[in-house]
Amino acid sequence: MKKTIRDVKWEGRTAVMRCDFNVPLKDGEITDDTRIRAALPSINYLIDNGARIVLMSHLGRPKGKPNHEFSLAPVAARLSEYLGKEVKFAASDAVVDEDVKKAASELAAGDVMLIENVRYRAEEEKNDHDFAGELSELGDIFVQEAFGTSHRAHASTTGIAAFIPAVSGFLIEKELKFLGEAVNDPERPFAAIMGGAKVKDKIAVITSLLDKVDILIIGGGMAYTFFKAQGYSIGTSLLDEEGLDLAKNILDLAKEKGVNFLLPVDVVAADEFANDSPHDVYAVDSIPENRMGLDIGPATIKLFSDTLAEAKTVVWNGPVGVFEMENFAVGTRAIAECLAGLDATTVIGGGDSAAAVTQFGLADKMTHISTGGGASLEFLEGKELPGIAVIEDK
Ligand code: ADP
Ligand code: MG
Repeated sequence: MKKTIRDVKWEGRTAVMRCDFNVPLKDGEITDDTRIRAALPSINYLIDNGARIVLMSHLGRPKGKPNHEFSLAPVAARLSEYLGKEVKFAASDAVVDEDVKKAASELAAGDVMLIENVRYRAEEEKNDHDFAGELSELGDIFVQEAFGTSHRAHASTTGIAAFIPAVSGFLIEKELKFLGEAVNDPERPFAAIMGGAKVKDKIAVITSLLDKVDILIIGGGMAYTFFKAQGYSIGTSLLDEEGLDLAKNILDLAKEKGVNFLLPVDVVAADEFANDSPHDVYAVDSIPENRMGLDIGPATIKLFSDTLAEAKTVVWNGPVGVFEMENFAVGTRAIAECLAGLDATTVIGGGDSAAAVTQFGLADKMTHISTGGGASLEFLEGKELPGIAVIEDK
C-alpha cells in the first residue's frame, strides 16, 4: 500500500502537488475541464486539513521553452471558480525563481498557488536533478496526482521525490486500487477486451495479460492483423505489417496458456473510411477485396456479450470499431452497454475507450475509468511506473 495525503499531518506543511491540468484549449479558453474537476477532491482535502498548497502541471508541448500559448493561467482562473477562493498564479517563464519561492513561502494554511507549465523548462522531461531540486524547494511533501504522466520519469513526476517525501492523491489512490486489483488479484473469470487501431501499440500488454486473464477478446482495427495472420484476406482493412508476426505469436501463446481467446466472427465493412460509405456485414473469411472492416458485426456482438456475461472482472482498452463515426459505433456501444449491465468490476483504460463510454452516457455505470492512456497500458503490462514507484509505502 502506498501512502496517501491521508497519511500526512498537514498543519504547517506545504504540499507540492503534481496534477494533470493538460486540458484542451481553444483560443485561450478551456474547452473541457474534466481534469481540473478531477483534482478538486484532493485539493479540498488539503485545504480542509490546513496544508499550504503549491500545484504544478504540464500543458501541451511547449518544447522546453516559455510559450504563453501553453500558459496555465486559464487553469488558475478556473480553479479559483471551483474552489471559491483565489488560486494565486505564479507567472514565471522560469517556472521556479526567487519570486516564486518567496510566494510559496508566504502561503498561509489553506492557500493555493499554481506555478507555470513545468514544460517551459527543458530540464523537466530530462528529469534534471537540479530542476527537481528547485521544485522541491517550494514545499515539504510531494503529492503525486497525475496518473497520465506517472509512466514518465520527469522532474515534476519523479525527480522531485529524491528531495522530499512522496505520497499519492486520491486519483492515484483510485487508479492503484482498481488497476492494481485487476492485475494482481482479480475476481474471476477475468476478461480483457483489447481494441483500437494498432497491434504494435498493445502487443506488450496483450502478451502480459495472457498470463493473467481467463478470457481475451480482440476487436477494433487490430483484429484484421490477426485475421491476416490466420490466412484470411482482409480487403482494404487496417493492417499492421510489423504486427503480423507478433499476432501469430499471440495466437500460439493463447493456445498454450489455455486462454479463451476470441476474435470477431463477422465484421461490418465499407467502401471507404467515411460514415456514409455503403457497408454490409461479412463473415471474417469473406471480406471483399475492395472493402474495409470498420466495426464488429452482430454475431460478434452476441458472442462477445455472451462470453462477458460470466466475467467478474473486465478490463477494456481500445474501441472495437471506428466509434467516432455513428454507423460504425454500434459494436463499441454494444460492448459498453454489455459492461454497464454486468455485475462485475469494470475498468476502462485508454483515452479513446473512455471517450466512447462517456459519449454513450455510460461513464457512471463503470467501476473505474482510468485517466491515463499510456500509463494504464504500462500498468496493465506489469511495468513499474517511475512516478508511482517513488511514492512511499505505508
Ligand atoms: P485507446 O485510446 O482507448 O487506447 P486506441 O487509441 O488504441 O484506443 O484506438 C482508438 C482508435 O482505433 C479509434 O480512433 C478508432 O476509430 C480506431 N479503430 C477502431 N476500430 C477500427 C477499425 N476497424 N479500423 C480503423 N480504426 C479503428
Ligand atoms: Mg487512443
